[in-house]
Amino acid sequence: MKQNGIRKKIFDKLRAKNHIEKTRVNSKNKLKIVISSNNQHKIKEYKEIFNDYPNIEIMSLNDANINVDPEENGKTFKENSLIKAKAVAELTNNLVIADDSGLEIDALDGFPGIYSSRFMSDHTYEEKFLAIFDMLKDKNNRKAQFHCVITLVNLEAGPLFFEGVVRGEIAKTSNGLNGFGYDPIFIPEGYKKSFADLSEDEKNAISHRGIASKSLLEFLKEHKYI
Ligand code: IMP
Repeated sequence: MKQNGIRKKIFDKLRAKNHIEKTRVNSKNKLKIVISSNNQHKIKEYKEIFNDYPNIEIMSLNDANINVDPEENGKTFKENSLIKAKAVAELTNNLVIADDSGLEIDALDGFPGIYSSRFMSDHTYEEKFLAIFDMLKDKNNRKAQFHCVITLVNLEAGPLFFEGVVRGEIAKTSNGLNGFGYDPIFIPEGYKKSFADLSEDEKNAISHRGIASKSLLEFLKEHKYI
């Protein structure tokens, strides 16, 4: 009985591996990548970032008919990103990427960081901005960064991590209507406008998510997935 269970496990593993290898061989057609996120803004950004690669098909959880919302109980972006990636990898043989990201403010020791979405979660972003302005009112240092860790799973190799950081500072007021989350109060280094005042393409070219995605794409190209 136990033997059968073990044999089934080995068989399932081989079948999954075979599927991934087939995915790679067929990757000249289209490589399907499922994004483990329920955040529609992130999904939109990934679809835009990968838009230049016609042989990649980005699928939301909805597109892949997957319904999960794993608990993010990790202590770092990397841990949470891995939790989200693994939860979806169990439900599909396609490649899966997960993104954990957030805003880290230097004078607040990296807060809100991994708590970016959970901080004052019953309030609007405008209310969160006011709270942050208040926390920074006596501080001269308004430097901050957006940080993103993408985890790629369901490869023959173990999970792979791709990181992106964009430095900048917290504005004195919120500005701009594009983007999402903390974009209206983040001014990237070398710019006078907030992320929310940049076009989608301008943001993706320099953002934490854009930078992490660039390394992911380099990996996929180098290993002939695309
Ligand atoms: P996660 O979905 O748990 O990774 O939480 C990400 C949270 O970080 C979002 O809900 C936003 O509050 C914040 N965040 C991450 N990336 C961005 C961005 O590109 N712009 C603005 N806020 C972001």
